[in-house]
Amino acid sequence: MTFKPLGKHLIAGNWVASADTFSSEPAHGDAYQYSVGTPELVDTACRAAEAAFWSYGYSSREDRAKFLNAIADEIEARADAITEIGTSETGLPEGRLQGERGRTTGQLRLFAQHILKGDYQDRRHDEALPDRQPLPRPDIKLVQRPIGPVAVFGASNFPLAFSTAGGDTAAALAAGCPVVVKGHSAHPGTGEIVAEAVAAAIKSCGLHPGVFSLIQGGNRAVGQALVQHPDIAAVGFTGSLGGGRALFDLCAQRPVPIPFFGELGSVNPMFLLPAALASRGEAIAKGWAGSLTMGAGQFCTNPGIALVVDGVDADTFVKTVTEALGDIGNQTMLTDGIADAYRSGARRVSGSSGIRELVGTACETRDAAPYLFETTGDAWLANEELGEEVFGPLGIVVRVKDEDQLRQIAHGLQGQLTCTLHMDDADNELAGSLMPVLERKAGRILANGFPTGVEVSEAMVHGGPYPASTNFGATSVGTLSIRRFLRPVSYQNMPDNLIKDK
Ligand code: NAP
Repeated sequence: MTFKPLGKHLIAGNWVASADTFSSEPAHGDAYQYSVGTPELVDTACRAAEAAFWSYGYSSREDRAKFLNAIADEIEARADAITEIGTSETGLPEGRLQGERGRTTGQLRLFAQHILKGDYQDRRHDEALPDRQPLPRPDIKLVQRPIGPVAVFGASNFPLAFSTAGGDTAAALAAGCPVVVKGHSAHPGTGEIVAEAVAAAIKSCGLHPGVFSLIQGGNRAVGQALVQHPDIAAVGFTGSLGGGRALFDLCAQRPVPIPFFGELGSVNPMFLLPAALASRGEAIAKGWAGSLTMGAGQFCTNPGIALVVDGVDADTFVKTVTEALGDIGNQTMLTDGIADAYRSGARRVSGSSGIRELVGTACETRDAAPYLFETTGDAWLANEELGEEVFGPLGIVVRVKDEDQLRQIAHGLQGQLTCTLHMDDADNELAGSLMPVLERKAGRILANGFPTGVEVSEAMVHGGPYPASTNFGATSVGTLSIRRFLRPVSYQNMPDNLIKDK
């Protein structure tokens, strides 16, 4: 291995260790020992982040853009070593790690460009109306200001793009907020090498070292102490509903509650409307099989549910997807725990009433093969648990009686990251009747595509009503995500030189 991890935490520019260690559990290659995080280390990092805010929170947009670009450069300078340790820890293929690295550095550079434009500050100005009757109006200016230190939790399935220097970190740093990352125990070495890149960028840009810290986990007390620390002003979290909800509740119970931006799981239903199903059901079935099993199905945008109106076209669709999934072999999952959770989720689905297994697997290791089930609209409506995410390549076809039942199911959906309509021109009216419902359910609605693959751009929304996320007004992907870490402040009759419009 080119990169030999120190196994330490990066706290305000220093690599430090506690007394205890935990071992990484790579899919292949060497395991390493990592220092276990502690609440004391959390305290040191958060205090340093707060100290750094008094300079970093008032830095110029140009300086922050330079810093974001420097992080991207430092990550690229470690490209091969990152791919090597990332593939070892996660079992994801090299090409995936390389692509994700490009997305991560692209995200950092996009934020650099975005803040340089300055319009993210949404400046507003009500000019004074001294002669207004019955009362004069004061001069009022509004500017968005950074909120303070942000805690970031990445997810196991995106060791780069939703992790140490991923979207949440990039958005917070772009806004002017120091960041304390809770390292993911599924990829501690990948976290460490990326932290090393951020530390190098802090040095070359001459910033306060408290701008960024990484505390490895190995202990749930770390994350809990982090979200409860009085210096933390907000949390960016990507992960499971269970973990996210536990930390969200802690944030709400603080003496001073703080926003918790949790990006959680989703089943991403696809509605296959009748004309599209008749004209190209087989092609959609093959596309679905590919999307469902991409990356062993370990995507929050994995389309786990396909809704079809029952009939011969539904039969053809089911037959084609059954054959396509049957051809897909085992894939390595990110951790043993995720593989276990996948199998127990599949057991929960297969034990539900009205469910029929079409493709199954007997695999009992970290590998996973796809599952496919089918059920009826009636059984779906009678069993809310079928709408819960099983993280992995598991699909359920729901055969509904008619268009009314399709709409009824849409109405009953939980919040989703995405909903998809597969539709031809002849489906337009039905699609039109579903749209007002789906707009209330999902952050992103697609026509004729698959939701895996989230563009990092100006118009992207990656979020949605609970439980897809804990804050439906926000996105964790794309430039709009910076708004989570800004707070509007009004300045009334304030001399311009006192407004830190940076
Ligand atoms: P996870 O198990 O919830 O872990 C995420 C982070 O939270 C880890 O650092 C974990 O610590 C910590 N954590 C979890 N429960 C905690 C608790 N009770 N107290 C303190 N810390 C806690 O999630 P994951 O397995 O990494 O990720 C898979 C999930 O993420 C899937 O559900 C997927 O859909 C979702 N996801 C969502 C998005 C999105 O953008 N919406 C993107 C990717 C993934 P440890 O390191 O100790 O485990």
